[in-house]
Amino acid sequence: MVKPTEPVLNPGDEAKPGTPGAAEDICDTCSGSGKLANGKPCPECGGSGRVMRGIGGG
Ligand SMILES: [Zn+2]
Repeated sequence: MVKPTEPVLNPGDEAKPGTPGAAEDICDTCSGSGKLANGKPCPECGGSGRVMRGIGGG
């Protein structure tokens, strides 16, 4: 059984990259810096500073 390669999602991601209606946005938790105030990598965006958000619809 071939398992398709799935993109790694961070806790803050609301949708997979490439999902129609989803867009990359600045992570609210770290304000896009990718780090928390204590210097640790932001767990919400995985240190990328950006998360995928579902836009449009509900
Ligand atoms: Zn973040």
